[in-house]
Amino acid sequence: MNPEAQRCLLCKNARCAAACPVHTDIPAAMKLYREDRLDEAARLLFDNNPLTGITCQVCDWNRLCFGHCVLNAKKVPVHWYDIEQEISVPYLETATVQPGPASGKTVTILGAGPAGIAAAIFLRKAGHGVRLYDEHPHVGGVLRYGIPDFRLDKRHVDHLERILLRSGVEFRGGRKVTAAALRGTADALLIAGGATQARKMRIPGEELPCVLSALEYLEAPEKYPLRGRVLVVGGGNVAMDACRTAKRQGCEVTVYYRKTIANMPANTLEIAQAQSEGIPFEVLQVPVGVELRDGQPVAIVRNCENFTREDGSLATRILDGTDHEVPFDTLIVAVSEKVDYRLFGEAMPDLDPDGWVAVDPQGQTSWPGVFLAGDFRLGPKTVVQAVESAKTAVQGILDYLG
Ligand SMILES: Cc1cc2nc3c(=O)[nH]c(=O)nc-3n(C[C@H](O)[C@H](O)[C@H](O)COP(=O)(O)OP(=O)(O)OC[C@H]3O[C@@H](n4cnc5c(N)ncnc54)[C@H](O)[C@@H]3O)c2cc1C
Ligand code: SF4
Repeated sequence: MNPEAQRCLLCKNARCAAACPVHTDIPAAMKLYREDRLDEAARLLFDNNPLTGITCQVCDWNRLCFGHCVLNAKKVPVHWYDIEQEISVPYLETATVQPGPASGKTVTILGAGPAGIAAAIFLRKAGHGVRLYDEHPHVGGVLRYGIPDFRLDKRHVDHLERILLRSGVEFRGGRKVTAAALRGTADALLIAGGATQARKMRIPGEELPCVLSALEYLEAPEKYPLRGRVLVVGGGNVAMDACRTAKRQGCEVTVYYRKTIANMPANTLEIAQAQSEGIPFEVLQVPVGVELRDGQPVAIVRNCENFTREDGSLATRILDGTDHEVPFDTLIVAVSEKVDYRLFGEAMPDLDPDGWVAVDPQGQTSWPGVFLAGDFRLGPKTVVQAVESAKTAVQGILDYLG
């Protein structure tokens, strides 16, 4: 038994649970754990969040449960995530989903990442048939084809795939499909296609072969045996995974970020791990061009300063006259991702004034019975937020199907 559990106050209005996007009932699970009722604790967590065995490993708990524990006031917050890992990771090996009584209705899901997986499980529990499409041969989305093995053991994702298949989900992997083609093939359609398009830096020289997209690199690092000096541009999880992967390939890696370390959106733990692995961060600096000098790639880097806009948001100003040159072998771009609306195919639902697909609070588009979830709805966010939005969309689908 982890002694941390005894320190938990089992708060009535638990701040840890309130800060969790899926509102994990931490006091209830903690109580079961203390009573050595591990199976019941695991089921409670899994029923609320079928990806609990994953989120307890990849969530940024400093900004979520741990960071909001009431005992932070005494600087001794409870390490709930350690306990959740002890309960939920082994449970993945044996977990099963009991399908509800057959409804005679079928839902198609496009995208087998965290949102698609969670939705498929909730829909099977409700008794609906589920057809799950993904362009990859296996389920997992970013969990399998983005986050490196040293951070997430892919056997955990294999377990999720087994749970889905045993529950009766029909998985149609290895097929790139469009929403327009799938629309009308079932009683409802959930689009959970992720944020799969890498943003570009939009600088001269970005098209040179020495410049690589972090998403492409992380999908199959073995295809890119990098060497020499690698620059990684960005400050999110993708940048941290890219720099740590390149470091493991034996490269001399430096991270360039236009704001400060405190402003980096990456998991705080990943930032600390990258630093402890000896990866230097050059902050308040940004490449503004890439050139070849006698075949040697060189990044033109400029200093930046941060300032606060009138609305309180933080912005960056690039400072003229501060150019300096940094020679490198590969520059990896990790400056965020966006959704790719080409996924819709030849027709699209209505857009909102900001150019996003318009959805109601449950994620339903102007196409009746067609819902969005995960990064495809929210933009690039997190695994636990993908699960939360899948829960919302599934509730919408259940209401729609009656
Ligand atoms: C490298 C990296 C590291 C990350 N690290 C963390 C982390 O530590 N913690 C965290 O919480 N979040 C992390 N994130 C973010 C998190 O992974 C995403 O928010 C989450 O995966 C979103 O889930 P999703 O199901 O919406 O989309 P995805 O996981 O992107 O899955 C979407 C799936 O749909 C498929 N698809 C798309 N279009 C089509 C099509 N036309 N036909 C068929 N299939 C299609 C895609 O191939 C993909 O398999 C990370 C993201 C990346 C890229
Ligand atoms: S983990 Fe912290 S906030 Fe949550 S119930 Fe325990 S003491 Fe309260």
